[in-house]
Amino acid sequence: MYQINQKEMMSNCPNCGGINLGRLHKKSYFCRDCYVEVAITRKNDIYVHIPSEDGVITRKIKFR
Ligand SMILES: [Zn+2]
Repeated sequence: MYQINQKEMMSNCPNCGGINLGRLHKKSYFCRDCYVEVAITRKNDIYVHIPSEDGVITRKIKFR
């Protein structure tokens, strides 16, 4: 199970496991390996936003 300490910065992408995560905002990151946005909610749920081929529709996947 993917785990994250709320006080620590996420270091691995929950989608691809890559380490090239860049911080977008306080609770969101962008993976440069698989080009997804990772968002962490107040409840510490992890969502991954995956853009479709046309870049319009974004799939939102809850990781936990
Ligand atoms: Zn990734």
